[in-house]
Amino acid sequence: MVKEGTTVLPYPVTEGQEALPILKNMLNFKRGANFDDLGEENGLTDPAEWVSTFHTLKEKIQHRIESNDKFFSLEFFPPRTKGGAVNLLARLERFREADPLFCDITWHPAGNPGGDTETSSMTIAGASCNYAGLETMLHMTCCSMTKAEITRHLQRAKQLGIRNILALRGDPPSGKDDWVPPEDGFNYATDLVKHIRKEFGNHFVICVAGYPTGHPDALSYEEDLIHLKEKVDAGADFIITQLFFTAETFIKFYEDCRKAGITCPILPGIMPIQSYDSLRHIVKLSKLDVPQDIIDVVSPLKDNDEAIRNYGIHQATTLIKALFDADVAPGIHFYTLNREVSTTAILKQLGLWASKPHRPLPWKMAANHKRTGEDVRPIFWSSRPKAYVYRTQHWDEFPNGRWGSSESPAFGELKDYYLFYLKSTSTKDILLKMWGETLESEQDVFGIFEAYVTGEENKGGIKVTKMPWNDEELSLETSLLKTKLSLYNKRGILTINSQPNVNGANSEDPVVGWGMPGGYVYQKAYLEFFSCKENIEALKNILPLFPRVNYQIVNKRGSENYTNHHRHRPMAVTWGAFPGTEIIQPTVVDPVSFNVWKDEAFALWTEQWGKLYPEGSPSCDIISNLSETYYLVNLVDNNYPEDSCLWDVLEAMFAWRKLQETSQEEVLNDVLQSKEAQELCN
Ligand SMILES: Cc1cc2nc3c(=O)[nH]c(=O)nc-3n(C[C@H](O)[C@H](O)[C@H](O)COP(=O)(O)OP(=O)(O)OC[C@H]3O[C@@H](n4cnc5c(N)ncnc54)[C@H](O)[C@@H]3O)c2cc1C
Repeated sequence: MVKEGTTVLPYPVTEGQEALPILKNMLNFKRGANFDDLGEENGLTDPAEWVSTFHTLKEKIQHRIESNDKFFSLEFFPPRTKGGAVNLLARLERFREADPLFCDITWHPAGNPGGDTETSSMTIAGASCNYAGLETMLHMTCCSMTKAEITRHLQRAKQLGIRNILALRGDPPSGKDDWVPPEDGFNYATDLVKHIRKEFGNHFVICVAGYPTGHPDALSYEEDLIHLKEKVDAGADFIITQLFFTAETFIKFYEDCRKAGITCPILPGIMPIQSYDSLRHIVKLSKLDVPQDIIDVVSPLKDNDEAIRNYGIHQATTLIKALFDADVAPGIHFYTLNREVSTTAILKQLGLWASKPHRPLPWKMAANHKRTGEDVRPIFWSSRPKAYVYRTQHWDEFPNGRWGSSESPAFGELKDYYLFYLKSTSTKDILLKMWGETLESEQDVFGIFEAYVTGEENKGGIKVTKMPWNDEELSLETSLLKTKLSLYNKRGILTINSQPNVNGANSEDPVVGWGMPGGYVYQKAYLEFFSCKENIEALKNILPLFPRVNYQIVNKRGSENYTNHHRHRPMAVTWGAFPGTEIIQPTVVDPVSFNVWKDEAFALWTEQWGKLYPEGSPSCDIISNLSETYYLVNLVDNNYPEDSCLWDVLEAMFAWRKLQETSQEEVLNDVLQSKEAQELCN
């Protein structure tokens, strides 16, 4: 409540009136109503919608069809090994940059596809949705499962935030020719579709498989179409087809579907030919005939994978263009076979690879519908979004609009740094090469930090492209600070997070922009680093000289915790003003969360770096000593319209330290040797 006569708010406030309603009345601002008048004419959609409204995949497809905006989707299969799972997740993240509409993960009844291992279809699909941030569809077959088991798997998928299921019958187990329905299970994909709708209503978007040349078990092509219509009538939302080789095959199938009354979207499944062996294998599995003209090209090249791949890129690109020209495909579904090169090349040739990644918010969002509306996060995890998602996965609600002042945000514990989705994508060997096979002194560590921020090679001639606190190369905006960061890392200010100040940059700015077009973005200069006790003592002494700076300094145990922040109140450090909406402030510095983050940040020294070396080795000791004795600091310069003073703070800190460390005798010597003293003596 604000008392009458105060000047805290820019309008008169009387006792008993809440601040927010008054402000809203004054501005006559009603979210939505105000915008509608504006939006219709300008062709804008509600600017807050992109974070606050959940759209099903069915809606997204419909939207892209209506706007005639071609899209693509990508199929992957679960890898066999844990290492493969780490690599697949990295691949998914790279593909995310190209903005696929969704990706899907296949289901292999021979393994344990619904289990909790790193390589199960369920885990990979969950990781894709939550950690790679991709709209994800999980395949599920009826093979070897009872109705109850299928329900359990669907419940697990729901829990993980997966909203899309590709409902399949599946094939008979290997060694058996004929399909036999499992006891107390389902006979056809149609039964599975009905079951999903009955048990889960509209929670899941359901896709089913279509066969442009008819399913091999079907009595006829026509009969298969009848069964396809039954699947759609049972509640399927769209169809993905089996692979095929000519545009005519799909065009005929598309037209026959429409004649049969199948009106839902149909996505052509395209498999770029990548090698002779994989083509033979897939064709055998799916019982397809390869056209003679393709055999004629591929056969003589069978030992030349690169030539076959190039041909595959050309063949698939031509095929897709023909489908787009015939106006029968709203988008394309790629059977990637877990490889990147061909699909990427085709997407680029078709102009479907998003050239400018869109950043709705300055941090990477998850695709889990439960996080819809989440638009604020503490800045500390900005380079470790997966750890943040992991630690907040059980939250019922996510902050929307404001972080709020929470006494104790219930962050989940992070004990297992080796969960595959949190694990570095680099092997131990590569990390050792980047972070030093042996360390001889703290200076060596400073050098690694310096190499990371400059993008230059370390002492051993290797580029340092990641750090325990940043699993990716430096962000574009951090590279704006490169020169200064390099200077101070060399001197033992070991920076792990930073952002430059920004005062009203265009939201489409390629480096610092985010959010919808036509807006302006702002941020306060931020610096977070580890440093030694001597620097911290100096810093504590000089910080009062910089009243525009907010700071927090903690040691590993939290027994020392200095701050001039409000102890429980967060502060926005990034915000944006966009047409027709309230201010959006997606990044905050929150003193309470900082105390949670510091445990993770200190532990990363030893968990990710120290453990690379044998226990008790000098290198291991150097890292654990740093983690034990250094402090973690965050600094915010509130005066964002002016040049950041954070570098002055650091200079003042070094100057203070020098003053303290210089003995009286040295000071006297300096004085005696000064020009003035020499002149006096003469
Ligand atoms: C896009 C796509 C993804 C796939 N992903 C996987 C995967 O992840 N894992 C996997 O193991 N396999 C996968 N497959 C292969 C699929 O499981 C096989 O093709 C399987 O043989 C058929 O599955 P379905 O869902 O099409 O079956 P269904 O639609 O049930 O059809 C199977 C056969 O039964 C016939 N039929 C359907 N209903 C009736 C009825 N009422 N009466 C008589 N006959 C009927 C159909 O005409 C067809 O011949 C995929 C296939 C495609 C096209």
